[in-house]
Amino acid sequence: MKPEILLYPALKGLYCEKGNFYIDPVQPVERALITHGHSDHARAGHGHVLATRETLDIMRLRYGDGFCGASDTARLGETIAIDGVRICFHPAGHVLGSAQISVETNGTRIVVSGDYKRRPDPTCLSFEPVPCDVFITEATFGLPVFHHPDDRVEVARLLQSLRQFPERAHLVGAYALGKAQRVIALLRQQGYDAPIHIHGALAKLCEYYQREGIELGEIRHATVEGGNRQDLAGAIIVGPPSAFSDRWARRFADPLAAFASGWMLIRQRAKQRGVELPLVISDHCDWAELTQTIRDIAPGEVWVTHGREEALVRWCELEGIPARPLHLVGYDDEGE
Ligand SMILES: [Zn+2]
Repeated sequence: MKPEILLYPALKGLYCEKGNFYIDPVQPVERALITHGHSDHARAGHGHVLATRETLDIMRLRYGDGFCGASDTARLGETIAIDGVRICFHPAGHVLGSAQISVETNGTRIVVSGDYKRRPDPTCLSFEPVPCDVFITEATFGLPVFHHPDDRVEVARLLQSLRQFPERAHLVGAYALGKAQRVIALLRQQGYDAPIHIHGALAKLCEYYQREGIELGEIRHATVEGGNRQDLAGAIIVGPPSAFSDRWARRFADPLAAFASGWMLIRQRAKQRGVELPLVISDHCDWAELTQTIRDIAPGEVWVTHGREEALVRWCELEGIPARPLHLVGYDDEGE
C-alpha cells in the first residue's frame, strides 16, 4: 500500500482510513492513538483512546476519569491489530510514557514519532530507532542554528547562581509535564539534596512521577500564604512559566527568574519574558539530533509535521531522501 494512502493528514489530524483511527487528533474523534500526554497531542473527548499506561494515567490526572469513552493500554513493543493494520508503540524519550507509533500494512511501515529527543533523560525511556519506509518527524528546532548544550552544564549554572546569590529565591519556570520533573531529577543527580519547592500546578504530576519510581527527592509546596517572605531565600522553586508573571512570583524573597526551555537559546525570547537566568534544556531534538536520527533510521521517505519544516525537508533532499511537509495544524510548543 502506498504510504500516503495508509496515513494522511486530515482536518482532525493524521488519519488511517483502513484502521479508522487518528494519531494525536486535535479534535474529538471516534478512535484516537495518542503518542504522549502534552495537551496539544492528548486532548479530552475521544470515543476510544489507545496509549501507553503512563499516557492514559496522565490524561486521567489532567482531565479526570471521563477523559474518553473507553481506553486500551498499549504495551511497548507489542503488536496490536486494528482492521488489518498492525500497530506498535516504541519509546520516544520525550516525557514519561511518550511513544512513537508504528503503523504497518502489506509491508509498508510508517513511524509517527510524535515529539521525541535523543539525549538521556532520567525521567523516561530512551528513544528507540525503528526501521521504516516513512519516518514522520516534528521539527520544533529544525534549523541549523539550534544547538542544545549539555543539560548538566545548564543545571550546574543554576546551582552556581544559588551559591552566588544565597539571599535570592530562585524561581525556575518549567512546563508541568516532563520538563519540571526532569529539571528536579537533574538537580538531584548533581547532588542537590535540599527540599525543592513547587507551585501547586505541578503537584499532581510530580506525585505521579514519584509513584512511578522517579527519584525527585524531597518536594515541598511553595505556599507562602501567611509565611515569611524570607523563608524561601536561597531555595529553588519550580513552577509553570505562566505563574511567573503573576502575583504568586512576587511573594518570594528577591526572586531570580530562570526558565528551562529550548527557546532560551534565543536571547531575545529570554529578555522578553524577563528571564534573568535562561537555561537551555529541551525535551525536543536540536538540529544535529534531528538530522542524526534521520541518518540512523535511514527511512525511504521523511514527512515533517510541526515546527520549521522547510529547512529539514531541504536537508533531506540534499541527502537524497525524499521529504515533504505535512502542514499539520494545532500543535504548539508545550514542553519544548
Ligand atoms: Zn510534547
